Amino acid sequence: MNDDALTPTYGSRWCSESIPKYRLPDSPLLPETAYRIVMDELNLDGNPALNLASFVSTWMEPEAEQLFMHGATRNLVDQDEYPQLNVIEQRIIRMQASLFNAPDNGEPVGFSTVGSSEAIMLALLAHKWNWRTKRKTQGLEYNRPNIVFGADVHTCWEKFARYFDVEMRRIPLQPDRYTINGVDVLNHIDENTIAVGAVIGTTFTGQMDDVVDINEKLIHYKHLTGQEIPIHVDAASGGFILPFVAPEFPWDFRLEQVRSINVSNHKFGLVYAGLGSVIFRDKQVLHKELPFSINYLGGEMKNYSLNFSRSSAMLLVQYYQFLRLGKDGYQRIMHQIMANARYLEKKLIEQGNFELLTDVKFLPVVVVRLLDESRYTVFDLSDQLRKFGWIIPAYTLPANASSISVLRMVVKENLSRDLMDKLLQDIHQSINVLSNWAGNRPENVPEKDNASHGVC
Ligand SMILES: *Cc1c(COP(=O)(O)O)cnc(C)c1O
Repeated sequence: MNDDALTPTYGSRWCSESIPKYRLPDSPLLPETAYRIVMDELNLDGNPALNLASFVSTWMEPEAEQLFMHGATRNLVDQDEYPQLNVIEQRIIRMQASLFNAPDNGEPVGFSTVGSSEAIMLALLAHKWNWRTKRKTQGLEYNRPNIVFGADVHTCWEKFARYFDVEMRRIPLQPDRYTINGVDVLNHIDENTIAVGAVIGTTFTGQMDDVVDINEKLIHYKHLTGQEIPIHVDAASGGFILPFVAPEFPWDFRLEQVRSINVSNHKFGLVYAGLGSVIFRDKQVLHKELPFSINYLGGEMKNYSLNFSRSSAMLLVQYYQFLRLGKDGYQRIMHQIMANARYLEKKLIEQGNFELLTDVKFLPVVVVRLLDESRYTVFDLSDQLRKFGWIIPAYTLPANASSISVLRMVVKENLSRDLMDKLLQDIHQSINVLSNWAGNRPENVPEKDNASHGVC
């Protein structure tokens, strides 16, 4: 008799037998059994709410989660079948273009992407094509393009250089300066430079490249040489912070040379992982041969992306967040996050074991180093904190600041003051445990190598 349907989930034979892991199982499982098996595997992972390593949102309202499920069944690329999705996508793009101060007399264009990485590649590709077209028209050689950015960029910039065959000119950091400025840029550009990258909120320290200065120097360079070099601003994390906590600070399309901007909606846009945006200052910046017209799904539509089919879930929840929160809502949340980050910073300093690498000024990223690294390191501390469930990455900075090891905490909206007090207690206790090693590193604690890990 087959009584599978009556067997309690954990009474089924799958609890005492292994399921195949590298070939398709021969027979089906009950839905609840399959669900439990998957969930139990997830339980082995860290808790997203305690993951201070990632910038990516881990909380949304139930209404947003409901919309998420509706979006999951609608393929975003089927613009002819779901024309309203395209309307919503364009509204989101226009709202962001206006948030980033696109000029009133221009026609900003943009696209939603899987994240900032895709957005950055699409933007830089457009700059590469524009550069090449200009060189061709001028009868100049056009096969040695280069891109200039600091060593403080996210790996996706290097990915672009490698995948799209562009020479990478990476400006090294200094042992006491972890961002780049206009003079750094001037020393690396030439007639083959397709674009200069400026990061608004680096993943390493949360600081900003001096984009105002870079803009000025590039304008000066334009007057001297006649060569126009665009800036692409990587505002993956800063794009939804600065407009609300420092609206007067010009980092966006208010700067003349800024031609394109990317943002990760799944960071401080407050949606789950899977949405970014690329915005071009004006439709002319997007080389006309790059967007594809697609007609085989019925109707004609424009597509500029590296992927094709994609869920529209993220787009719907981003639209929900924009309507739900409005400017005022985002402002309140961002001010709260910043206040909490400053609180964490202050309390950590009071504990007496740390110094700040940088001040929390515009981004809620707390980066500290140990005052005394002789007995234990930030890597040991990161491991200890893991025992309390906290995921807090330790890593070394990029060249030429790689002698500096730091601990980084990204403060997101779900890190309430109470949770933060608990974190501070756990840090205090971890330090006590480590101090009691008294110079004798236990046998089972490996000396960490210097590779950065968990930085995303
Ligand atoms: C997170 C991040 C990226 C990559 O963004 P994804 O949305 O994860 O692809 C790029 N640049 C910066 C500065 C980032 O913080």
